Amino acid sequence: MRINAVVLREPGTPVAVEEVELDGPRADEVLVRVAAAGVCHSDVYLADGALGHGRWPMVLGHEGAGVVEAVGERVTHVAPGDRVAFSFVPSCGQCRACRAGRRNLCEPAGRNALHGTLMDGTSRLRDGAGATLQHGLMTACFAERTVVAAAGAVPLGVRIPLWQASLLGCGVVTGAGAVRNAAGVRLGDSVAVIGCGGVGLQVVAAANLAGAGRIIAVDRDSAKLELALARGATDAVEVAGHGDARRVRDLAGGGVDHAFEVVGRPDTMRLAWDVLRPGATAVVVGLAPAGVEVSLPAIEFLSEKAIKGCYYGSTDVADELPRLARLVESGRLSLADVITHTTELDGVQEALDRLRRGEGARTVVIVDRELAYA
Ligand SMILES: [Zn+2]
Ligand SMILES: [Zn+2]
Repeated sequence: MRINAVVLREPGTPVAVEEVELDGPRADEVLVRVAAAGVCHSDVYLADGALGHGRWPMVLGHEGAGVVEAVGERVTHVAPGDRVAFSFVPSCGQCRACRAGRRNLCEPAGRNALHGTLMDGTSRLRDGAGATLQHGLMTACFAERTVVAAAGAVPLGVRIPLWQASLLGCGVVTGAGAVRNAAGVRLGDSVAVIGCGGVGLQVVAAANLAGAGRIIAVDRDSAKLELALARGATDAVEVAGHGDARRVRDLAGGGVDHAFEVVGRPDTMRLAWDVLRPGATAVVVGLAPAGVEVSLPAIEFLSEKAIKGCYYGSTDVADELPRLARLVESGRLSLADVITHTTELDGVQEALDRLRRGEGARTVVIVDRELAYA
């Protein structure tokens, strides 16, 4: 079928809406009519070529929600008409990582995401000239329709607006999972959240729900700090470039129990390390461009500080995502307030530029107005 989709042709050139050809779903795949999709900082990195070579031409978009239109003959967990959000790690359940319970690190899913293919190593997307297009992170949801691996379409289970549900599959799972699974924040703990964009604000909200006693939001943009305070941060520290770590440590009485880095830069990773109390752990959620390195004062390992990575919430997204949807339905987790802009498919380039400038939290692309607000 012919659909409109946002295509990245070459890094550094603007993305544009093209009419492309989408093949129907194979046996283990699902065709979804996209309602809405969030624009994430990883899309900027992909568009800038910062995640490595060979990742274009590609249909972008890895965070979204929609309605199932057709399923392959081996798909049983969803049916046409079901409301789903996308998971960009449709784990196989059989590889070493999956068997060890670390489905977010599924090996074939990771490999295929890197190659821009679905789980069988092929693409369903072609451009007007017949050339193969890559599926952005196995999702390719800046498009009117998309075909994803079965496990990439996660049923929401509850009825929440799809323009809000579109954020679940990247920003929300990533932020909430970092708090719950990577850090294990407990009642009364102190937390620093460095970087309060689309994902950082989810970390703040999840830390609040987890009962953190002190939630210190750190950013260089006062508007984002305001949003963080509205989502449960107890303190806001505007980055000055010097003395930032001391200010955070002082607020937490000598250092925080958990620091979350949600930017992806060496200086903010170092800041996450510097605000820890002895024995505490920094969780790096932010994605850094390929080639970036970070250095730490090694003597401080004496104080049993630790730093660890967290990919996609360190969780099984198929399990976590419906749980988060229920929190949204019950009103305990608000998503509407982090959506600072909405646009249409032809507004993706502008949304990427906003992220490059560090403006606003999340832009949501309303692909199908009727579905998105239903
Ligand atoms: Zn993302
Ligand atoms: Zn696997």
